[in-house]
Amino acid sequence: MEPFSYTLAEEMETAIALLSAHPQARYIAGGTTLLDLMKDNVLTPNLLVDITRLPLRGIEVTDSGVRIGALTTMNEMAHEPVIRDRYPLISQALLLSASQQLRNMATIGGNLLQRTRCSYFRDPAFACNKRVPGSGCAALSGPNRMHAILGTSDHCIATHGSDAAVALVALDAIVHVRGPKGERRIPLTDFYLLPGTTPEREHVLVQGELIIAIEIPSTFDATRSTYLKVRDRASYEFALTSAAVALELDGTTIRAARLALGGVGTIPWRVHAAETQLQGATLDTRVFAAAAEAALVGAVPQRDNAFKVELARRTLVRALTTVGGMA
Ligand code: SF4
Repeated sequence: MEPFSYTLAEEMETAIALLSAHPQARYIAGGTTLLDLMKDNVLTPNLLVDITRLPLRGIEVTDSGVRIGALTTMNEMAHEPVIRDRYPLISQALLLSASQQLRNMATIGGNLLQRTRCSYFRDPAFACNKRVPGSGCAALSGPNRMHAILGTSDHCIATHGSDAAVALVALDAIVHVRGPKGERRIPLTDFYLLPGTTPEREHVLVQGELIIAIEIPSTFDATRSTYLKVRDRASYEFALTSAAVALELDGTTIRAARLALGGVGTIPWRVHAAETQLQGATLDTRVFAAAAEAALVGAVPQRDNAFKVELARRTLVRALTTVGGMA
């Protein structure tokens, strides 16, 4: 690990000013991603600004939904009754992530910003455009079973690792950010960037901007919802495929649907086309299969992960069947 300076921020404005003035500085909260990457010399910040004393922890019900402070831990959020009752898919996504110990440390703000689990990114011995722009992508020719099939480019095929982000993107969550130029609200659907030719740029935040809260709007009734995660082992494992599904029903008719996929996209993958297909349809496995087909349009499998196309379809159909009460 490279040497670095450390400071504990008591005021938000101080933290933001420090990050804005030091391009190589990083915020640290739970540290569950950052410290691993520093130990492996993947990230080498020269200054860590500890934000854990800032008043950004807690969950509040508002007129427009639920606001979660960015420093709320994954476990706190998952077990909060309002999250469990109103947004079961989010609670489930959080509890299916990482391990108990990590969920006690990791914050929801950090979870949204976690870096990819691409093993080439995490090992400086390999070429990686995300780690060193222009150096190449070892995953394109190496083993790539875990990599993405949607939103990929010739420069990067890494998946996004957050389960919670998949559930939150399905529900049109909004990220509240404060930075050197004040506050702004960013829909999570616009927050992440496709790799394109610049995979090192993963989101729209600029240096110094700090996630202060995540808002889940109350515009969709997500009480009928689930997060289904398929993985190689039953715990402490990232998704091969996952599906976040919420349905509003009128009897057996689907009034509206919210769907997103994980484990297959370079960003949490919202599937509007499949939602449109379900709207107004009757609960039926053939309807679900057609929606799943639409959700995977444009998938580009790599050498080792063509299985993800069919697995993702089946994951989505299974999740829809569960939420539709047909399992
Ligand atoms: Fe790096 Fe992306 Fe290629 Fe992985 S897939 S090696 S993160 S450029």
